[in-house]
Amino acid sequence: MDIIWPGCNEIVANATRQFLSRSGAYSTRSSRFSIYSLFLELIDPAWNSYLVCLPKSRLDELNLEENIGELAHKKSFLFLENKFREWLRASHKLQKISSDFSATLDTLIDLSMYCRVKKPRRGRKTSGDRVNSRRANFPNCQFCGKQTELFSFLQSGAWPDADPDQRARLSARYCSEHRPKNLDGTWNSAYLRAKRNAEKFAEEARALKKSSGPMRHEEQKNNSDRFAQKLTEQLAAYPDEDEKFLNAARQLVDKKISDRKKQIIMLLATGKKQIDIAAELGISKQAVSKALNSIPRQYRFDLPPDHLAE
Ligand SMILES: [Zn+2]
Repeated sequence: MDIIWPGCNEIVANATRQFLSRSGAYSTRSSRFSIYSLFLELIDPAWNSYLVCLPKSRLDELNLEENIGELAHKKSFLFLENKFREWLRASHKLQKISSDFSATLDTLIDLSMYCRVKKPRRGRKTSGDRVNSRRANFPNCQFCGKQTELFSFLQSGAWPDADPDQRARLSARYCSEHRPKNLDGTWNSAYLRAKRNAEKFAEEARALKKSSGPMRHEEQKNNSDRFAQKLTEQLAAYPDEDEKFLNAARQLVDKKISDRKKQIIMLLATGKKQIDIAAELGISKQAVSKALNSIPRQYRFDLPPDHLAE
């Protein structure tokens, strides 16, 4: 994980590296492993020694604070993050931006983001813990199973390809596909669409996850449940693999697989004819075949699996 921007002040960079390597059990929630104390202990002294190197006039103009760790604790890491951005903008305006100042602030902005979303990592390495720590370190997009932009970057150190100048503010809540705004500042249509059907998405994700759990008695299941169960089998997902359920739920919503369509598929799978299904559902045979035509092959559980199709 590397969030240190090239050109960042060396003292701040070293403190950041040390911070990251020690931050495992720390979070904003814990009092014993308070990430604020770690910040105060490591980052504040580095920041203060950096301030000493800056020209006095710069300090006065920008109103730089000396106790950034306290600021984060009293307000929040988001507040601190915005403060850094403010200083960065102000120094751009004064046209007194030096590359090391900009890189140092960018590093601290990313570090604040990291602290803000950081979840504690457990020390013990039982298999259950490994699953939990993987999950804790895998905050997914609100609208699919992919990592958020920020976490993907913190994990891999790779900045999104779409932003070669590395100026975008990485989203801590959404993946690159679902970030609210495009890099040019316009609204992202994929985000707006996903926002409109957020509830449907949550519902599908819940159903898929539930179907991966202990089996209920067959009679209690309706066709939507059976459909979810079939899909879960196809995903070959373990109950803890949330990202798989979330991605599958996203696809179901995006491909407009309604409850009615699921019903039709599962009734066909029991060997019923289209005409009988139409009668049972109180719709026309044309409506049944139209629905079937709009369903991608991957969801046609009434047909033999793809590789057996020919
Ligand atoms: Zn997403």
